[in-house]
Amino acid sequence: MMRQFELVDRVVSYEAGADEDLLNRAYVYATKMHGDQKRASGDPYFSHPVEVAGILTELRLDCATIATGLLHDTLEDTEATFNEITSMFGGEIAELVNGVTKLSKLEISSASPSQAENFRKLLLATANDVRVLLVKLADRLHNMRTLHFITSPEKRARIAQETLDIYAPLAGRMGMQNFREEFEDLAFSELNPDARNTVLRRLEELDETKGAILDDIAYEFHNILTEMGVSCKVDGRRKRPFSIWRKMENKSISLEQLSDIYGYRVIVDNEDACYKALGVLHRTFRVVPGRFKDYISMPKLNNYQSLHTTVIGPNKQRVEIQIRSQDMHAVAEQGVAAHWVYKDISTKAPSRMDQINPFNWLQDMVSQLKTGETAEEFMENTKLELFTDQVFCFTPKGRLIALPRGATVLDFAYAVHTQVGNSCTGARINGRQLPIPSVLHNGDEIEIIRSEKNLPRPVWLRHVVTGKARAAIRNVLREQEEAGFVELGQRLVESLFASEGLECKREFIERAVGVLGLNSLARLYAEVGRGRLSATEVLVTAFPSKKRKDPKDKDVLTKGQDTQLSARAVPVGKSLQGMAMSFAEGCFPLPGDAIIGILTPEEGLKIYPMEAPILSDFEDHEERWVAMHWDIGEGSDALFDSRLDMTLVDKAGSLSIVSQTLADFDANITNLSLFKRDETFHDLALDIQVRDVNHANQIVNALRASSVVTRIERVVAAKEK
Ligand code: MN
Repeated sequence: MMRQFELVDRVVSYEAGADEDLLNRAYVYATKMHGDQKRASGDPYFSHPVEVAGILTELRLDCATIATGLLHDTLEDTEATFNEITSMFGGEIAELVNGVTKLSKLEISSASPSQAENFRKLLLATANDVRVLLVKLADRLHNMRTLHFITSPEKRARIAQETLDIYAPLAGRMGMQNFREEFEDLAFSELNPDARNTVLRRLEELDETKGAILDDIAYEFHNILTEMGVSCKVDGRRKRPFSIWRKMENKSISLEQLSDIYGYRVIVDNEDACYKALGVLHRTFRVVPGRFKDYISMPKLNNYQSLHTTVIGPNKQRVEIQIRSQDMHAVAEQGVAAHWVYKDISTKAPSRMDQINPFNWLQDMVSQLKTGETAEEFMENTKLELFTDQVFCFTPKGRLIALPRGATVLDFAYAVHTQVGNSCTGARINGRQLPIPSVLHNGDEIEIIRSEKNLPRPVWLRHVVTGKARAAIRNVLREQEEAGFVELGQRLVESLFASEGLECKREFIERAVGVLGLNSLARLYAEVGRGRLSATEVLVTAFPSKKRKDPKDKDVLTKGQDTQLSARAVPVGKSLQGMAMSFAEGCFPLPGDAIIGILTPEEGLKIYPMEAPILSDFEDHEERWVAMHWDIGEGSDALFDSRLDMTLVDKAGSLSIVSQTLADFDANITNLSLFKRDETFHDLALDIQVRDVNHANQIVNALRASSVVTRIERVVAAKEK
């Protein structure tokens, strides 16, 4: 374990003005707080934060970050509090430690590989300071280095897999290739030691035959470049076992077939020298077409810069070459952390690093990391759902679900499963019961409350933002609507057959299905229900001998006929209402009122009170008239809209007398409009909900008897046509 003075010395060695006192205090405080806690290795727990701080000094990070490394587990694992850390080490460090703690908590709800991308984004969304991520990565790196001390194989495998799925790609995105490679290598040796050993053995064999050549080629490149006046350093290197294995798996090829196991890195003094070196190599060796990439003029979003090319090398083999300056190299190896590493004092020309304001750069980095590594990925993410507009929530089992910002409980339910959405009645969000339209926040844990009796309603469309939920709701509504039309059509056909004294057997109707060119019984009924096909047409198609009746003597219902007793009457109940059947506009018939249906193409059956003046418009279209009767069932609690039109005396309290009377009769008010007629009277239109005609009449009589009502009538049908 690194000792206190060693750690401080290391920081001072790269940061002259380092706050030694701060580092010493953080070291002492963390030692005290962790006390005699132990690691799985048996070491004192405190060795862990010290090693994490040590890794951070290798990145040459600032004092606040090193102190955060020392303190990073105190909030989570000890008695330390945010306020105490704030007062001892200041707000900046307290915020950093708090940020790392938040990330550690997220880790508990471990993600599956398919959710790794979302989880990485969640980490980025949660860490608002890039230094929080750097400490988190160093923390994970030390935990991976000491992974073998953990005795449970399942736990080791889970941590290794998580590292491979989440932290290695995250380090890659941040441009920290060294971290990425070590993560991958450590995870690989835990998860698949056999594969790793196989690759290593084969690499050793290759090295025996080609190893010398690797150095020879590096030497030859160096000589050629130096002769042409480019001072440089050339490294020949071999790919890491894990990336070789991954390539072999992805492309299903053998190790021998991999052309790029060996690569060369040419490090020169500055940007100009990069292009000069490229020119020399391209003139000397044959270039493999399509492999040249200029990441200097077009840096990657994580600020990676280099020239990449592939040539046919000295021994006629394809050779990959990366050319970069020293400062580009620092960025390539340490990515976002390189800002603290490299201060270019060797060249007078302003380097790219000097032009970068470190804080803006970090800001940019984080926002770029959030969207993706390349311009293509950036575009792809933008097209889908822009990450900054996302919110991440968990199921009770810890599954992570990403939704667009503004998403509601319903969106979440539909994201889990269509059936969960359809049966959703609300949710417990972090244990609190909330209704369907509630908007979700990052990190919420959502438990959907369901009822199988529940059905989606049209108003749900206003409570969702995701396309998936919207489509699923529309789907169910369409099905409901279709079912309503099918049911209505069937009733119309059946009642017509009954009035003709014919049995409505399935086989008769199916005959009509074929003749009319419809593909199913349901289709036929739906067509009748929608008013596109008449029931009479179905009848004469099923029984061609039954000619159409002469319109003059047809058995048609006319106004005033006792529809309730008619065998043909279609029942109006709660279940049949919907798209297929609805009350005509401005009409408020109640159970007990005589009603009649008018088939309206595409709108289904419109229900009118028999006394509606507008019915005279349909006198010449008897084929559209449908007898109807009420069927709301015994003891039904169904309520119907009714409208009362009245004149009130204009005096204080008159409205409250009206509302008290309504309350006495257990009637809800759904709408109210008041018009001043003159100094002494008001006209009042009141929409209420009642059970039936009797209920409405009781209310009307009671109001008529009251001292404040001078005129009252129930509106059954719109007065004018
Ligand atoms: Mn830790």
